[in-house]
Amino acid sequence: MIRQKIVAGNWKMNGSKESIVSLINGLLEMEGSNSEVVVAPSFPYLSQVNDLISDSSIVLAAQNVSQEVKGAYTGEVSASMLGDFGVKYVLLGHSERRSLYGETNELVASKVKAILDSGLTPMLCIGETLAERESGKTLEVCEQQLQAVIDVVGIVSFEQMVIAYEPVWAIGTGLSASAEQAQEVHSSIRAFLAKSSESVSQKVQILYGGSVKASTSSALFQMPDVDGALVGGASLDAKEFIAIVKTAG
Ligand code: PEP
Repeated sequence: MIRQKIVAGNWKMNGSKESIVSLINGLLEMEGSNSEVVVAPSFPYLSQVNDLISDSSIVLAAQNVSQEVKGAYTGEVSASMLGDFGVKYVLLGHSERRSLYGETNELVASKVKAILDSGLTPMLCIGETLAERESGKTLEVCEQQLQAVIDVVGIVSFEQMVIAYEPVWAIGTGLSASAEQAQEVHSSIRAFLAKSSESVSQKVQILYGGSVKASTSSALFQMPDVDGALVGGASLDAKEFIAIVKTAG
């Protein structure tokens, strides 16, 4: 099965009105690509970025969402609000949300449901810590994170989702998983999903995330189960991000 590659930039809590204009202007110089190119700015800049990319094929993502539909939830942002501003993808379960803001597998699953209910596409991040990898628990952790979501929305919903495998030890550390390490986990994730649905497991795009740079992305993208990348730090540099997109073909 041919799955389109996705290269997504998670800008995290970075940028200003001014710097975002120059970052997007840089990205607009990109030549046409077979991959889907996605950017995820912070909430206040979604509208600005939506306008700046309106004549391009770049796609908008948000970095977080409330699990609630509407109401007395001060400071929260609903999935339908994100939809109003042209958002297609929403990142969920990012390790920074799990570790710094205590987001549990159950909360992540309820956020996935809220996103699907609004017709947006969850980009579900999963991955193990270094201690978990060293104690041989990589797959167990990834499977628990996936199972919590399957329990709430069902396996068929994964056709409307993207998974990002992001080993926590590789995020922001400069220490990327090797292409072979990524492939090993991606194929195991696909095999785990196949136990519930073979066709869903073949369709779902699985991105790798964790210190991806142009110098490492081409080996990653050659792996049969690596369907793209979720890029943090390197996505703030238009030239580097474009170079990563190029390696995706
Ligand atoms: C991320 O935040 O999703 C990420 C992968 O970050 P970095 O590329 O900086 O490791």
